[in-house]
Amino acid sequence: MQVQDISRERSAQLFDKAKSYFPGGVNSPVRAFKSVYGTPLFIERGDKAHLWDADGNEFIDYCCSWGPLILGHNNPQIREAVQAQLGKGLSFGAPTRLENELAELILSNNSYIEKIRFVSSGTEAVMSAIRLARGYTKRDKIIKFEGCYHGHSDSLLVKAGSGLVTFGETSSAGVPQAFADETIVIALNDKAAVQQAFADFSGQIAAIIIEGVPANNGLLIQDREYIHFLREITQQQGALLIFDEVITGFRLGFEGAAHYYGIRPDILTYGKIIGGGMPVGAYGASTEIMSHISPDGGVYQAGTLSGNPIAMAAGIAALSILSQPGFYETLAETTASFVQHIRTFIAEQGLEVKVFTIGSIFWFAFTTSENIQRADQIDPASMEKYKIMHRELLNRGIYFGPSGYEVGFISAAHTSEDIDATLKAIKESLLIACS
Ligand SMILES: *Cc1c(COP(=O)(O)O)cnc(C)c1O
Repeated sequence: MQVQDISRERSAQLFDKAKSYFPGGVNSPVRAFKSVYGTPLFIERGDKAHLWDADGNEFIDYCCSWGPLILGHNNPQIREAVQAQLGKGLSFGAPTRLENELAELILSNNSYIEKIRFVSSGTEAVMSAIRLARGYTKRDKIIKFEGCYHGHSDSLLVKAGSGLVTFGETSSAGVPQAFADETIVIALNDKAAVQQAFADFSGQIAAIIIEGVPANNGLLIQDREYIHFLREITQQQGALLIFDEVITGFRLGFEGAAHYYGIRPDILTYGKIIGGGMPVGAYGASTEIMSHISPDGGVYQAGTLSGNPIAMAAGIAALSILSQPGFYETLAETTASFVQHIRTFIAEQGLEVKVFTIGSIFWFAFTTSENIQRADQIDPASMEKYKIMHRELLNRGIYFGPSGYEVGFISAAHTSEDIDATLKAIKESLLIACS
């Protein structure tokens, strides 16, 4: 069933202006809609699961600001907490009671970290965790996986070279090769590659870093046994295991992927959900490991706006809701039923598309493969179909992330009416994309 293209007149005008101010017209690259049709939509406001753009189009949102909005837009408790704090000043550069409160809320409900440090983004959290791992182990090299994203710090903007285990190649201009030489990039879900890396660089590897569940380049759900293997081999080799839980933290459960897999990483990083929609990141570890951070220890890390009171207030309000019993179970049930409906439809129609899911995260892959666990198993040509689906969805009032490599999120604000409307739109859009 064909529907009309939505009007993007105002958005297009704003985008033209924006291009004269910002590189590519945006302040973060994927927002530019380079991988999908049309100009990016300029958003006016959001409420619950809904978004409105500058042309007055309304959408049900599954991007959720790339993950942070697990409670939807304009959540009343978060809004009130922020408003209550607003009249008291925006920043002091001195400690506040609110930092204690958010830390208490997290640490008393998380058995994987004993001390935490707040920063202002996921990138900063991961960058600091890497420095901590290097300072703690007195080793320089780290292992990262092709298909995992850890923010844009230098040592992590690195992609796999050729061969099973190689030094990385920089994936951004401006990253010195000398930095990339300290990062070993290997394929996911491949035990032999990890063993080989430890054999080739014996005594030099400070840490393995992996996303709790790789969800920045498709949804690459790893075998549970493989995650446990990473824990064992790092322990044997005197290296640390860093779980980058910037997406999975407070998403797969209050205790994130660590609890989901039942393993104890050495350092965990958080972002996105932790600030309730405000810019907050954090890293945490045992008291012993965290004692190496300044001013207690020799690993330097600081931030003018770290622990910002407004951001802390938003985080406290959000996490208070998330820590209530049953929150994640309900969200996972909603998501499972949503995905099941789509899978049934796909099977009935015999479409070449799969939906992968974990917790309240989902991802559409236009593939015939039963399983996708590594970055190189994603066919770039299949992204053409996502592009079509994305446009059809927008035309039917459904907002997905503007790239087929991005996952979707379900929030607690998505109602059954929202879900039903979305299912109808997805079915129609899939038929068009797969035709
Ligand atoms: C988003 C993300 C980051 C970077 O966080 P920013 O707040 O965008 O700097 C790091 N790691 C993972 C796993 C992420 O999803």
